[in-house]
Amino acid sequence: MSQISVTVDGKQLSVEADQRPTHIFAENKEIVVCKINGVLKDLWTDLSEGDVVEGVSISSADGLAVLSHSTAHVMAQAVQEVYANTRLGIGPPIKDGFYYDFDPENTFNPDDLTKIESAMRKIIKEGQRFRRRVTTEAEALKELAHEPYKCELIGIKGPAGEEASVEVGGSELTIYDNLGRDGNPVWSDLCRGPHLPSTKHIPAFKLMRTAAAYWRGSEKNPMLQRIYGTAWPSQDELNAYLELLAEAEKRDHRRLGTELDLFSFPEEIGSGLAVFHPKGGIVRRAMEDYSRIRHEEEGYEFVYSPHITKAALFETSGHLQWYADGMYPPMILDEEYNADGTVKRAGQQYYMKPMNCPFHNLIYKSRGRSYRELPLRLFEFGTVYRYEKSGVLHGITRARGFTQDDAHIYCTKEQMVGELDSLLTFVLNLLRDYGLNDFYLELSTKNDEKFVGEDSDWEEATEALRKAATAQNLELVLDEGGAAFYGPKISVQAKDAIGRTWQMSTIQVDFQLPQRFELEFSATDGTRQRPVMIHRALFGSIERFFGVLTEHYSGAFPPWLAPVQAIGIPVADTFSDYLGDVIKQMRKAGIRAELDASDDRMQKKVRNAQMQKIPFMVIAGEEDQKAGAVSFRYRNGEQKNGIPIADAIAEIKKVVQERTQV
Ligand SMILES: [Zn+2]
Ligand SMILES: [Zn+2]
Repeated sequence: MSQISVTVDGKQLSVEADQRPTHIFAENKEIVVCKINGVLKDLWTDLSEGDVVEGVSISSADGLAVLSHSTAHVMAQAVQEVYANTRLGIGPPIKDGFYYDFDPENTFNPDDLTKIESAMRKIIKEGQRFRRRVTTEAEALKELAHEPYKCELIGIKGPAGEEASVEVGGSELTIYDNLGRDGNPVWSDLCRGPHLPSTKHIPAFKLMRTAAAYWRGSEKNPMLQRIYGTAWPSQDELNAYLELLAEAEKRDHRRLGTELDLFSFPEEIGSGLAVFHPKGGIVRRAMEDYSRIRHEEEGYEFVYSPHITKAALFETSGHLQWYADGMYPPMILDEEYNADGTVKRAGQQYYMKPMNCPFHNLIYKSRGRSYRELPLRLFEFGTVYRYEKSGVLHGITRARGFTQDDAHIYCTKEQMVGELDSLLTFVLNLLRDYGLNDFYLELSTKNDEKFVGEDSDWEEATEALRKAATAQNLELVLDEGGAAFYGPKISVQAKDAIGRTWQMSTIQVDFQLPQRFELEFSATDGTRQRPVMIHRALFGSIERFFGVLTEHYSGAFPPWLAPVQAIGIPVADTFSDYLGDVIKQMRKAGIRAELDASDDRMQKKVRNAQMQKIPFMVIAGEEDQKAGAVSFRYRNGEQKNGIPIADAIAEIKKVVQERTQV
């Protein structure tokens, strides 16, 4: 056998010409797929002289995607084994798993998933090899004549959309055969690959749920049945993932929003448009009040702007050119008609605002500005409307109407470094005050294909952002070429109590809007100069941050945010008057305190307070009344007895003032 020379994980090797990566990596069970000359390939791929081969671990992002897709592939095989007359759609990997779309004779039910899972287990146990086979369009159409959806994909080979790229996205049309123990194909699927070497490399998986889905995402197409699943490199990792899902489900802000009576989405108003109930209103106001105080301390000035505007403003800003899809359609106002109904004077188009920036620019421009006024920091709780697709709406974290805690900072170039540095410190400290403590930063740099402004400006701003980020001693992730065309940005990513990452604040430098709005200031030497503009939303939107905090705290808000901070629970009716008076004193001291005067028994009242996640239960019985005291019961079940009333008030006020959790 002749020898060929290849590079494997950086090392030059001489191997027999019929050796494949699966042989080369045979010792390392973690390696399930490989890159050959930079392209992801099956471990069964033939090697050629000079190939550069890198092993890809099952735990890497590429490895997980291949694991997910291979499991989807096995699921499709199992479905056709159990329900022979099921036709196949597409089956791509997604975040934390995969799906496959099917056209079954009957709608799948939860029992079906169990049946399919056990058929999958059998296939996995058999260790069927995935064999790649190159085919032609004509051959594939003949072979897959019974699969109309696959045939349609063959017809549109090329730009088939991102999801179908798993089937036909490669440069060649390929079919994968699953080989049984005797080496003969037992099942085949049109697929680009790559796959795991064999089905036995699937260590742990679970089918999650079914959903209806239109073929290729269009409501003009037939409705298919989608099965979602998840696959992991080990049973432990699968278990951890399922636990995280269960925990996330318990914390889901949409569920807690109802249980704690915080907000709702009445159908009469429309999807993505929330109303806040009194209790949610208290949390929201506490969030806003504190933010307002801190912004004032940091030198921000508060402004207000209307919700709608003539189209011309968004033409100037450029939003109508590049953001029209995300805006509600225009209203035509002030149209005048002749007696015969024809238009005498054309109307004006008005738009709901998707962003506040253009309004703030008009405030800046309302008169001449001097360098002495800079940095000028304009802040607004600005309500905006964005026409999000209904499929992406998600409670108050992704809505169609929401209020940004939006600020625009106008400064000189010389001020930019210092401004970005203090801005980032301010942003992070404020997030910490709300109880988020685990961050990393992401720096998005210039996309060389798509940008406005001078290279030197970009470099300067990017360096300023990098400097500000580095000074925080946090992990800094580079998003190379990921900036919007109008300037670089830093985004703050925060981890919540169960380790999920949320993108929070963004600090965005903008080279474009000052130009489009011809913003100027008179410099020290009397010349007219253009200011640097920085967009900055700290919460993103108040609603979204509300949702994140609700999930982070699982609804058990720290006392300073809690709708009800203390609830009075008398041991028996006889102590109601005494406790009622204590609660009155608490209210006078500024504490959000209530007396549970219902007919419920004490134990029921305690349970209700627990369900409402109220930080302090203030309990009074005979001994308390005699001593002029109360007892505290905390959310964790601990109890403290005989606290003098003044001390009780002081304890609650202290944790509220210090914004600590109890
Ligand atoms: Zn496949
Ligand atoms: Zn802005």
